[in-house]
Amino acid sequence: MRIGILGGGQLGWMTVLEGKKFGFEFFILDKTKTSPACRVADGCFDYEEVDEFVRLCDVVTYEFEHISDEILENVSHLTLPSVGVLKLKKSKVEEKLFLKRRGYPVPNFVVAFGEDLESAVAMFNFPVVVKSESLGYDGKGQYLIKEDLGKLKTIKMNHRERERFLVEEFVDFDFEFSIIGVRNSKGEIKLYPPTINYHEEGILIYNKTTNLNFSLAEEIVKSLMEELNIVGLLCVEFFHAKDGRILINEMAPRTHNTGHWTLDGCYTSQFENLVRAISGLPLGSTKLKSPSGMINIIGKSYEEIDIRRILSMEGTKLYWYGKEKRYRRKMGHINVVGDNQEDVDKKLDYLNDVLFGAIKC
Ligand code: AMP
Repeated sequence: MRIGILGGGQLGWMTVLEGKKFGFEFFILDKTKTSPACRVADGCFDYEEVDEFVRLCDVVTYEFEHISDEILENVSHLTLPSVGVLKLKKSKVEEKLFLKRRGYPVPNFVVAFGEDLESAVAMFNFPVVVKSESLGYDGKGQYLIKEDLGKLKTIKMNHRERERFLVEEFVDFDFEFSIIGVRNSKGEIKLYPPTINYHEEGILIYNKTTNLNFSLAEEIVKSLMEELNIVGLLCVEFFHAKDGRILINEMAPRTHNTGHWTLDGCYTSQFENLVRAISGLPLGSTKLKSPSGMINIIGKSYEEIDIRRILSMEGTKLYWYGKEKRYRRKMGHINVVGDNQEDVDKKLDYLNDVLFGAIKC
């Protein structure tokens, strides 16, 4: 089986490493040939070489959303999950409108062009969250408006003239959580255990498994996978609001940062299950092997992390992506397993301390 991946970042890197166990070949399409996945794949192609890439692949999947429609046209006949789902995800506006239309619970929002931002924001109590329609991830293109309407001017200047925005209520939440599901072409679905996720300024810092029960959210994920006819993975991120509402923040039809821990904490990782689903193999068990957690290493070079201290803790695994250091860039992560959730919490506390100076987990 020859599998193509659109995007060569860390998600692609881990997919290749996991998928190679089956003897499959992997090809990457990205704007550069120096990405993490390119170092471990069987071939790497830039956007000019899309025809050659397509000729080599039996099936194509993706690890990020920001791919031009032109490229998507070339690969759509081979792509799983479908390009239709990817296109829905490319636009934060279309994604939210879809969810709302189909009756899924989402925060209150309106859609506005730049020139209408003031009146749209005025429809909510402060603070208000403004998100650009496209190219937003890890908190990029997202703005918190706390009575400072002057900020709207900057937002307009930073974006295209006819860009649309989501103007959303600020959800006062107890915590955020996510659930990843895998579905094959026969319609079989397996869900991973939910995780509680901690973000700062829009970027995931760490997450961990939980003993809490999220049966309503699990039904939502299953229903979305069926409605979108997903063959592959779907990650859905939720808010657990203080007023008791369970609201969808966003979804991603691909491997996800909140599922990195499955490499060590589950019978089958999210990466392996993606490969199984799109190549027609039986889905692997998503059962928990042991309580788990994950912490992202953000904006640090290899020299700036204390690998000896990290690895001296029992049950830690380091994954280093080999990317050039940049501010706020995800450079690697550490997976943690423990005897129980308390043990995982303690280990995450220790790692937070080693990496960033104590943040309580
Ligand atoms: P997003 O880019 O939409 O995934 O948002 C990144 C993070 O920003 C989320 O995980 C939340 O921590 C925060 N966030 C996004 N939207 C809202 C909202 N409407 N209310 C409160 N926090 C939000």
